Amino acid sequence: MTLQAKHVGETGGGTASAPAEFVEIKRRLATLRYATDSKDHAHITVKPEICARCPHSFCTFACPAQCYQRIEGRLVFRYEDCIECGACDIACDQGSVTWTMPRGPYGIRYAYG
Ligand code: SF4
Ligand code: SF4
Repeated sequence: MTLQAKHVGETGGGTASAPAEFVEIKRRLATLRYATDSKDHAHITVKPEICARCPHSFCTFACPAQCYQRIEGRLVFRYEDCIECGACDIACDQGSVTWTMPRGPYGIRYAYG
């Protein structure tokens, strides 16, 4: 933990008021480019009726882009910020997530590949 925080500080990603690791992931996500498809072609969908009775909401912890959030007890999913890591498809053991690759040429474009 100490080693990671020191490394982030050396690259200039941290601030005095926010945890260094949090600033680092947000800074990196800001370098990505998205070609967002229409809502009719969202490459991930969730079933609200299943999420409503989910006992753990693992998706909200697994998604590095914070696409899943519990707001006032309701699961809110935003596919637009997805970085296509696949973590939510693994984390959801309730059968709510349907995950497919985005249609070409839509989706994420990484800065280094
Ligand atoms: S883990 Fe699956 S069922 Fe639970 S809230 Fe997330 S998407 Fe919905
Ligand atoms: S594929 Fe990754 S980034 Fe996209 S919604 Fe799932 S966990 Fe989040």
